Amino acid sequence: MLKLENVSKIYYNNGIIATGFSKVNLELNLGEFVVITGESGSGKSTLLNVISGLDSYEEGEMYINGQETSHYTEKDLEQYRKKYIANIFQNFNLINSYTVYQNVELVLLLSGYKKSQVKKKILDIIDQVGLTKFKNTKVSKLSGGQKQRVAIARAIIKDSPIIVADEPTGNLDTESAKDVIDILRKVSKDKLVIIVTHNIEQFEEHATRIIKMHDGKIIENREIEKIDETNLIKETKFKKVTFFNKLRLGIRNTFNIKSKFLLLFMVFFFITSALFLEYTSFKLAESDIDNGVSVTFKDLSENRILIKKQDKTSFSEEDYSKISNLQNIDYIVKNDVFLDTQITISRSTTKGYGECWYATTINDVKNFKEQVDLGRIPEQENEAILQTSSKNYYIENFVDEVLEQNFSIKDSQENSILDGIKIVGIKFNENSNNYDSKIYMDSTQIEKLNTYMNEEYSTLKALFQNKYIQNKIVPSEKVEKENAIVSDDLKSLVKNGRIKGKDIQIEVSNIFYSDKINLTINNTYTEKSFTRLTGNDNYKLYGNAIFINNEVYDSLFNKQPYQSSVFVKDFENIDTTILELNNLGIDTKKVTDFKVITNDNYNELVQMIRTIVTIILIFILFFISYFIIKIILKSRAIYYTTLRMLGSSRKEVRKILDIELFINSNLAYFTSILIIYLTKINIINIQYLSKLSQFIGLWECVLIYVIIILMSKLLSRKVSKDIFKKSAISTYNEEV
Ligand code: ADP
Ligand code: MG
Repeated sequence: MLKLENVSKIYYNNGIIATGFSKVNLELNLGEFVVITGESGSGKSTLLNVISGLDSYEEGEMYINGQETSHYTEKDLEQYRKKYIANIFQNFNLINSYTVYQNVELVLLLSGYKKSQVKKKILDIIDQVGLTKFKNTKVSKLSGGQKQRVAIARAIIKDSPIIVADEPTGNLDTESAKDVIDILRKVSKDKLVIIVTHNIEQFEEHATRIIKMHDGKIIENREIEKIDETNLIKETKFKKVTFFNKLRLGIRNTFNIKSKFLLLFMVFFFITSALFLEYTSFKLAESDIDNGVSVTFKDLSENRILIKKQDKTSFSEEDYSKISNLQNIDYIVKNDVFLDTQITISRSTTKGYGECWYATTINDVKNFKEQVDLGRIPEQENEAILQTSSKNYYIENFVDEVLEQNFSIKDSQENSILDGIKIVGIKFNENSNNYDSKIYMDSTQIEKLNTYMNEEYSTLKALFQNKYIQNKIVPSEKVEKENAIVSDDLKSLVKNGRIKGKDIQIEVSNIFYSDKINLTINNTYTEKSFTRLTGNDNYKLYGNAIFINNEVYDSLFNKQPYQSSVFVKDFENIDTTILELNNLGIDTKKVTDFKVITNDNYNELVQMIRTIVTIILIFILFFISYFIIKIILKSRAIYYTTLRMLGSSRKEVRKILDIELFINSNLAYFTSILIIYLTKINIINIQYLSKLSQFIGLWECVLIYVIIILMSKLLSRKVSKDIFKKSAISTYNEEV
């Protein structure tokens, strides 16, 4: 028994007052088929919404089974709807992405029934409305009449005592409308059915009561058939929605719209990747700081001391033996330039990329005191050990293209400096992600390179007749040691062209030393006599050059070093060693002093910045994803509104959304983890990623997982709050 006493619905909109309906008195009972008509704007829908508990009312009192309802809160109204009301709408209000079966099932899942209990009942009702053939068809594929029949099935299955329908045939053709009305009457024999319509003729034969409204008031209330008044309205039985039902709906919602699933997945994948990248990039930056960086020095071993003589002369063998007699000295690297200069060694291969190369620094094989991981220790002068990452492409795949193979050392212009360096042993870097390479070679080979390096980084100038001249200086076997042969053209620089017997001074200088030698010009060449006198056949290039003896030429560069490095055995006592070296007249500098950053305050600063950036990033990510997810879910608002209209509470809706976002964020998270794993085991081979992946351990994974899950939870809370901000009907009206 439903009773309204002087009930009014008043709208307040920005200070404007509008009346939905006013002072309505009405008493309705089970078994009645009530038809409400009236022109548009007369208040029919408003009245239905109040009766349905979709909207509140401002005046009067509505009784259900004699109980007052004016004090109902939003929660009470949810319960009221669940217990008493089944709605049918002009716009059907179905879940388009669900099948017919799923739409009908949804009501029962939300009322706490178990899936297995309800199957027969659902199929029965689908049969009653004549849709058995379409039970597994998505609702979006049905015609209007069929959709309304699904809506009726959904209204009926709940077994609510009151069925409320607002213009259920408004969007249907006459034929379908008649169908729908017949079905509605048939399935609702002992219920209270309240129908709003423009088209009274369609319902006349079934109506037991006809109500006419005008301008918010009931102007006619005609009882056509008397119904027993004492019938008490039975409440629909319902339970709390079970966890499994929420889970079922959550999973169903995750995957039922593919584009939405992909978008959400991408948002979460983006968040996870951003977090992992941000975290690991910082770690990488931090580890660089820990190691220290130096532009000049590549070998930043903590036991390395750079040495120079205080009198600025080069080191003699005697100097070296004095130094090596000191207690704590492990070994001396005379030509230490190579410790810090990267050169390229390479060879052509028949496998892989066709060219195998390493950028390496150079060490003396004498200082290699460990075991090789592959191959053997060198025995010949031209044999060498290569130290590099075990993940190096050639070493992993075609080690026979490296081991026992001859490599060439090349300069930056790809010119070969030294050929026939045979790699016979391979040592792996401790950290397999460290791709820096070292080559250990015999000292004779290093000396050859040294001459080359000195030549490369030195400038040679000739001083003639108190003027520097620009001519190239070129070695030749045909020239005597004390002599020089020059071009005939230089005659113009001397009075009466007498150039033979004149002195010429050759100067060499580089960052370590400068030197000069005096030579006598004993001959000049013309284009004709060029090759005969100089042994050189490239007149075009060298037609202007000064030729000097090749051994003299080499001696300009083959100098004893001016700077060397010593390595100490015991790092703890490095300062004692430094003092001892100073006492020998040697200037010292620990190579670690050249590290750009070594102090701890800086690390703390980096930590702080990192924490702040991480927090800001999480905030930014949260709000970006919140807006994206909100937009994505906006298209789903009708779904959640439908759940509400079917009587779901905010908590239940949030739980279902929770599960959906939980599944999505987990899928995204574990995809990231999979990518990290594949990078770690080298199936994905991107150097930067593998560099980063080394910083990801269990703890990082757990931390980021917690952040992701918390974010998905907060997101679902915020979105569901938005959905519940307004009353169910106003959300509905906005959506439709
Ligand atoms: P009907 O369904 O009979 O066409 P309605 O119940 O929709 O009429 O509307 C009744 C009256 O209430 C109309 O004057 C309408 O303008 C007003 N009304 C309905 N909804 C609102 C609202 N949300 N805010 C303000 N006025 C409203
Ligand atoms: Mg209306």
